[in-house]
Amino acid sequence: TEILHIVGGGMAGSEAAWQAAHMGVQVVIHEMRPNVGTFAHQTGNLGEMVCSNSFRSDDDEQNAVGLLHWEMRAAGGLIMSSADQHRLPAGGALAVDREPFAETVTARLRAHPNVTISSEEITGLPETGQWIFATGPLTSPALGEAIRAETGAEALAFFDAIAPIVYAESIDMEKAWMQSRYDKGETEEERTAYLNCPMDRDQYEAFIDALLAADKAEFHEGETASYFDGCLPIEVMAERGRETLRYGPMKPVGLTNPHQPDAKAHAVVQLRRDNALGTLFNIVGFQTKMKYGAQTEVFRMIPGLENASFARLGGIHRNTFINSPTLLDDRMRLRARPNIRFAGQITGVEGYVESAAMGLLAGRLAASDILGHALPTAPQDSAMGALIHHITGGAEAKTFQPMNVNFGLFRPVEGLKGGRRGRKDRYKAYTDRAKSAWQGWLEQCALDAA
Ligand code: FAD
Repeated sequence: TEILHIVGGGMAGSEAAWQAAHMGVQVVIHEMRPNVGTFAHQTGNLGEMVCSNSFRSDDDEQNAVGLLHWEMRAAGGLIMSSADQHRLPAGGALAVDREPFAETVTARLRAHPNVTISSEEITGLPETGQWIFATGPLTSPALGEAIRAETGAEALAFFDAIAPIVYAESIDMEKAWMQSRYDKGETEEERTAYLNCPMDRDQYEAFIDALLAADKAEFHEGETASYFDGCLPIEVMAERGRETLRYGPMKPVGLTNPHQPDAKAHAVVQLRRDNALGTLFNIVGFQTKMKYGAQTEVFRMIPGLENASFARLGGIHRNTFINSPTLLDDRMRLRARPNIRFAGQITGVEGYVESAAMGLLAGRLAASDILGHALPTAPQDSAMGALIHHITGGAEAKTFQPMNVNFGLFRPVEGLKGGRRGRKDRYKAYTDRAKSAWQGWLEQCALDAA
């Protein structure tokens, strides 16, 4: 049978290789380290964690990332079993002893009879053969250029500019209202794409003070080159002048507040629907380097967002990622070149766990193609499926930015109480439904193999 080539032996590439090898496919991992390095990786090991050592919450009933842990464990994932083996005490979180973890990942792949590891940088997208590109946020420049040549400049980003994302149900609609600026938009969908939160002068001035005073994160060394085009952090805009935001993302023009039709707002914060389900809204233009704690404090000063729950907080990082909603099909193949798959952070997911998850899926789907089975992609109600459906379909392509797994990506379960009080039951219902959907898919995989 055909060989599966995997470029990049990080979280995604390692998991993809493990899954495909277990399905009986011969795999070659092409990893450029240690010959060619990145500014963040320190070793030549596969599965190196470049920054924190946390896989976040391990709660598989009340937390979406914990659910993803569960699904990967159920699928015999290499990244999860190695993390469990080198678990450090950290309460409800899964913290990992990073060096032995990466050594275990490397050793287990090296020992697998179906896996070959080749130390080399790949700099182009091959015409033939089955390939998975899992080269991560720090994809080498030569390969980045080759991808850009294939996808077009618009469809590959070298920095993310993540605006905070709020759960729709946590927005106070007694204060906020739905309206697109100047009532633009032909369809109902376009007209309900924006939510507005008004500020009077005092609220605006207090907000600017808080932005200026907030704790900010630094860029990592080597991270900053040319990030400023088009994604200035809001606190930097505020530093340029107290009125800058009022003439930028917070301009109050073209909007009428139905709660107070006579009062003209001094500034307006706009939120834009972030997924087709309408469960998530992002705060337009609010990319930021403020620390997470500071962000929740400052953003809850916005009228209507006093009780906001955040599906993800803002950030700006060096991050190579493609516009998956336009480029990839739901089996993670480049639509224009189906012999090429992408996996991991480069597909526009964010984080060790999500990246490994997308590797797991890509590895199984690629192996199934090679073996001539027609394994469907992950079911939408699983965490894995919620993520893949978001990045390849549910997300708004025009404003696509990397995403963590969160319950806002899940289809609502009918007949459950909304709001804060119903949350525990709702999350349990999501995770129960996800587990059974995922188990169903794993059974299908097993039948295929038999
Ligand atoms: P990686 O794990 O980066 O693996 C990609 C691999 O591809 C690398 O080994 C690289 O050497 C190799 N490669 C690149 N180009 C080529 C090429 N042309 N040929 C061959 N090999 C190539 N996530 C978190 O969850 N928590 C954090 O605290 C965190 N901090 C981060 C800090 C920094 C500075 C950065 C850059 C990222 C951080 N991330 C963090 C994101 C994290 O990197 C990813 O979540 C995860 O590692 C992505 O997995 P991946 O497999 O997609 O990419």
